[in-house]
Amino acid sequence: MKNKKTIFLILFFLTISIFALKISRIYVEANSCVGCGDCVLVCPVDAIQLIDGKAVIDANVCIECEICLKSCTYNAIRKSK
Ligand code: SF4
Ligand code: SF4
Repeated sequence: MKNKKTIFLILFFLTISIFALKISRIYVEANSCVGCGDCVLVCPVDAIQLIDGKAVIDANVCIECEICLKSCTYNAIRKSK
């Protein structure tokens, strides 16, 4: 009985952790980003900020619509598999 409770608690916390650690597949290749800000303007959920002249995507806000990916003429925004 005690073992079942322990296993349930472990599974419960693992599930919570997986949802808490949302990882976006959209990312910025910093070496290619020139800081033009075009992606910041097109993001519908304001998930992109310019930090030190480079675009940074907040994975917790990004909905992976890929609009920024198409807007970047420097091919600095990529999608991981
Ligand atoms: S559009 Fe591309 S080059 Fe311009 S800030 Fe965004 S990621 Fe950088
Ligand atoms: S994929 Fe969409 S939501 Fe995510 S950063 Fe780009 S424009 Fe914003």
